[in-house]
Amino acid sequence: MVDWKNPPRLFIPGPVKVNEEVLKQLARPTLGHRGKEYTQLHGDTVDMLKKILFTDQNIFLSTSSASGIWEASIRNCVDFDETVLSTCCGAFSDKWADVAKSCGRNVEELKVDWGKPITAEMIDEKLAGGKYAAITIAYNETSTGLTNPVDRISEMMKEKYPDVLVFVDGVSAMVGLPLHFDDLGWDVAFASVQKAFAIPPGLAVAAVSNRALEKSKNIPDRGYYFDFQQFAKQAEKNQTPTTPSIPHIMALNYQCNKLAAEGMENVWKRHKEMGDFVRAWAKEKFGLFCEEQYASNTLTTVNNTRGINVAETISAVQARHNTVFGNGYGKLKEQTFRIAHMGDINLDDLKELLAWIDDEIG
Ligand SMILES: *Cc1c(COP(=O)(O)O)cnc(C)c1O
Repeated sequence: MVDWKNPPRLFIPGPVKVNEEVLKQLARPTLGHRGKEYTQLHGDTVDMLKKILFTDQNIFLSTSSASGIWEASIRNCVDFDETVLSTCCGAFSDKWADVAKSCGRNVEELKVDWGKPITAEMIDEKLAGGKYAAITIAYNETSTGLTNPVDRISEMMKEKYPDVLVFVDGVSAMVGLPLHFDDLGWDVAFASVQKAFAIPPGLAVAAVSNRALEKSKNIPDRGYYFDFQQFAKQAEKNQTPTTPSIPHIMALNYQCNKLAAEGMENVWKRHKEMGDFVRAWAKEKFGLFCEEQYASNTLTTVNNTRGINVAETISAVQARHNTVFGNGYGKLKEQTFRIAHMGDINLDDLKELLAWIDDEIG
């Protein structure tokens, strides 16, 4: 019998497990969102996020999940007579292309088979053959467990296409993987807080470049809820356009302090160690779904080479230990399964989980 009041410990790629102290932040007395206390909370949180994301540009806090910023990046920064190149390498990056189309924009897709990366060369070839206002890319594709070579892509973009805007879905990457927003020359990068920030879902963090913000001024029909101009105007006062989820921002403030205390280099190192550990297990017992050099340090998509019944195995681990990991996403269901190793966990948590999976697969 499941019981939502006694839910399993989560090793799915979002939402992830949330620590007690973080949950307590969500239970703090609320503040008026136009008052001095909120302004202090907002300003302090944004200042820390700028350090964590290595940017001096704009940080917006959106009371939505990251999908809202998929839409915002397109509606604010791509005009109706322009074309966006959407790179597609899995369920989430594919979906972003659909979102861009649903905003009535001209979309050209650069598609690779699931499990393959998007490379700088592929993007270069596309951009050389047409006129594009922007590209979209997933830093970390959560369906296939793949990290795209964003450093090389960013170098190439800065060198050859400095006028093309770069929008990055950093949802399952942000804080778990290195992200130096200004150095990379990105224009929009964002995440939901239920991934590596290890906060319950309900808020998204977005970094927006000054030039993206400038461009948005002249884009018509940006809509209301995700209008970057409104975000920027209110950000000057350390506020948001509409009433934000203040409890989430309290939790985010707490997590930013914790990340700063650990040090971002150490946070990334911890994620790499967790990735190495889960990959070693996956290779011994099964296989990796994507090529190892692109395998993600925030989650592993395991190729189900033994043909285990994934759903049954997940249920069995849940029944015995009240802990769950992830089935494959969409068309990869049962063909793969996914283990998240992001957020407030460490090697000991993963050792325990993998031993429990071992018990089930024999
Ligand atoms: C989880 C995820 C999303 C969707 O996030 P929501 O919080 O559901 O909006 C988008 N992109 C990637 C890469 C993700 O992992």
